[in-house]
Amino acid sequence: MTQRIAVLGATGSIGDSTLAILAAHTQNYDVYALSGYQRLDKLFALCQQFEPRRVCVPTADVDSFSQRLNEAGLTIDVVSGDSGLIDIATDTQVDTVVAAIVGAAGLPSTLAAARAGKRILLANKEALVMAGQVMIAAVKRHNATLLPIDSEHNAIFQCLPTAIQQDNTCIHESNHGVRKLWLTASGGPFLQRSFEHMQQASIAEAVKHPNWSMGQKISVDSATMMNKGLELIEACHLFDLPESKINVVIHPQSIIHSMVEYSDGSFLAQLGSPDMKTPIAHALSYPERINSGSQPLDLYALSGLEFIKPDLQKFACLRLARQAMQAGTQATIILNAANEIAVSAFLAGQLRLTDIANINEQALTEIQVPLLDLNANIDDILAIDKIARHHTEALVTEMA
Ligand code: NAD
Ligand code: MG
Repeated sequence: MTQRIAVLGATGSIGDSTLAILAAHTQNYDVYALSGYQRLDKLFALCQQFEPRRVCVPTADVDSFSQRLNEAGLTIDVVSGDSGLIDIATDTQVDTVVAAIVGAAGLPSTLAAARAGKRILLANKEALVMAGQVMIAAVKRHNATLLPIDSEHNAIFQCLPTAIQQDNTCIHESNHGVRKLWLTASGGPFLQRSFEHMQQASIAEAVKHPNWSMGQKISVDSATMMNKGLELIEACHLFDLPESKINVVIHPQSIIHSMVEYSDGSFLAQLGSPDMKTPIAHALSYPERINSGSQPLDLYALSGLEFIKPDLQKFACLRLARQAMQAGTQATIILNAANEIAVSAFLAGQLRLTDIANINEQALTEIQVPLLDLNANIDDILAIDKIARHHTEALVTEMA
């Protein structure tokens, strides 16, 4: 049967990889809806190529975008803003939602998809960092399916026993011999550089990832290793494990995408070329397999695989993520919000790369908010997010 897909964040890097796969498998997948926030020319071209039934644009662009579609003879329902994203994510015609919006902006639609019982292909890690408990509870209560496409989490998912995969990935209650998870990290563009070099890094240097081609925010997060910190929190929620059960290891070649360690001493790993099309194709077709179009790994061409323990002084963001996870949800919301503000300020030329960790640490220690318990709802979460953003903006102004 054809799966009807909504790609939220269609104009980004994950959107590109997803749509490349969908274009090659039109007999199995129907691109039902798309969304974009910037680069609307690109979104328009995607509308011409895929002719989705619905499209979501920023509210200010509804009229001009509708007019363009009309002139091109395309009949597509145009919706807008957060409510438009939620409309699409919960549309009864949609089977699968690809959550590929970057940052907190992706949370409301991802949560709505969970509450509507959809199959969710999750790239938007920030949704879990902010609202992991609420998201996972919604997935369980509404019988949704959550399949990670972040490459590390997808690798771990693939290395877990089928029984855990089918129980919405929850390891905690029935550990099946799982001892630890190992998240691999490339170490980013500054792995071999000194901290002093990192302090002076230009924007261009910071967003130039050695192995992966990605959006700007996640590229900066990779340079500071905040990305691995966010992924550590993402993994705790996805697999229902405490942070102490999840190790991070730097593996500069990005060939092993992560590992599961079992009590008998076995380590299961998933390997592949560093290409997001592989995890996306896996999640799209799970439990079947389809051709992703990625280059097969050439094992004969690999000269060696290295594993290095991360330096938590140089990459303080990784330490902060563990600290926040131990402190509780309110702290992971603050860390995520502070980081989004600090990364934007770095990309706007207002901060040095290494200031991002300082801002994040200051935000975590200074911002006082109520502790969130397990009954916290989305409004409580968004309220803390808002406080943290205001406070961090002031910190940035002070530092800049
Ligand atoms: P990107 O910047 O390339 O694309 C982001 C998408 O979100 C675009 O379509 C953009 O228009 C949309 N968007 C941005 N702000 C928005 C807003 N306020 N409201 C609605 N839409 C908005 O980012 P990306 O690299 O594709 O990453 C997307 C998500 O996937 C991130 O959460 C990232 O951490 C995660 N991820 C990305 C990769 C990768 O290889 N790129 C790998 C793993 C996980
Ligand atoms: Mg990743």
